[in-house]
Amino acid sequence: MNRIDPKLAATLRRPDELVARGLAPASALADLQEVAARYAIAVTPEIAALIEPDDPADPIARQFIPSAEELVVQAGENPDPIGDDAHSPVTGIVHRYPDRVLFKLVHVCAVYCRFCFRREMVGPGKPNALSEEAYRTALEYIRGHSEIWEVILTGGDPLMLSPRRLAEIMADLAAIDHVRIIRIHTRVPVADPERVSPEMVAALRVNGATTWIAVHANHPREFAPAARAACTRLADAGLPLVSQSVLLRGVNDDAATLEALMRAFVELRIKPYYLHHGDLAPGTAHLRTTLEQGQALMRALRGRVSGLCQPEYVLDIPGGHGKAPVGPNYLSQADSPQHDRLPQTQYRVVDYCGEVHVYPPPSGS
Ligand code: SF4
Repeated sequence: MNRIDPKLAATLRRPDELVARGLAPASALADLQEVAARYAIAVTPEIAALIEPDDPADPIARQFIPSAEELVVQAGENPDPIGDDAHSPVTGIVHRYPDRVLFKLVHVCAVYCRFCFRREMVGPGKPNALSEEAYRTALEYIRGHSEIWEVILTGGDPLMLSPRRLAEIMADLAAIDHVRIIRIHTRVPVADPERVSPEMVAALRVNGATTWIAVHANHPREFAPAARAACTRLADAGLPLVSQSVLLRGVNDDAATLEALMRAFVELRIKPYYLHHGDLAPGTAHLRTTLEQGQALMRALRGRVSGLCQPEYVLDIPGGHGKAPVGPNYLSQADSPQHDRLPQTQYRVVDYCGEVHVYPPPSGS
């Protein structure tokens, strides 16, 4: 299984390299070395090029350049914040919902996001990939559970595998009759777009199952020309694309940025899918918003862009209880008008401008 191409030497992986490149202050070096001892660092040349070093609040830097704030672990934060372990019947598989499983093939990524909910499980020092035996056992588990309709390849980043290995895995999964959908979650199109080569794109298409790609991006500036070209290669190959973003304080927690991000997705034929509330991963409190802020942003987004550009705002319930939509509610029940003789339930519905309107109950109620 360990056929991951070594990444470009130019990827920055150590605090001293970040300091030397002007991406972190020398005064922070000792703290950042402490962070690096705990959590992986990787900043690809493409991502480094997006960072404005003179801007201390740069939204790209906030996602990838480590910070001493990561050393602060708050109450409630958890190394397994969404409860993968509680639903893992065999190594590499998370079976939380009946009809789908996560299949975690690799524990490495092109970049390491400072807010990552699997930050305790990804990066060098963790097992690189499943052993061949563990891979076969996981495949056997999927084969033995006919209710599994969808297999979600995640990790780590599955596109860190070589096209050849990925093609083998796709074929193994597609050969299982009940597996109809293979969904791949990846940050590679923006973090290391050249990896999305014609060979990689070909590997993602397989007879016997439909492939969906979930592209992870959090700020519109991540879509530099090379990233746009990578997404275009995927879309041109007929692969349906959806988005995945995390709501992050100081990165995309304003309506204009979210609007630009969602428009960028749609322009690239990526349907906005999930906007995740930040998970309770250790040392990430400085990057989380409140749920109320998230709801206000979703309300603002509703007023600014079409339904095509609306993601679903979701919270992964700590403990492994799955996702819940946590966006604003536009419908409520109103008290019956005083002059009504019979009790009736009316509805109040809020429009995109925030105006409240009454909607009548069904006749006879
Ligand atoms: S690419 Fe995904 S799995 Fe990897 S560090 Fe970022 S959020 Fe975590």
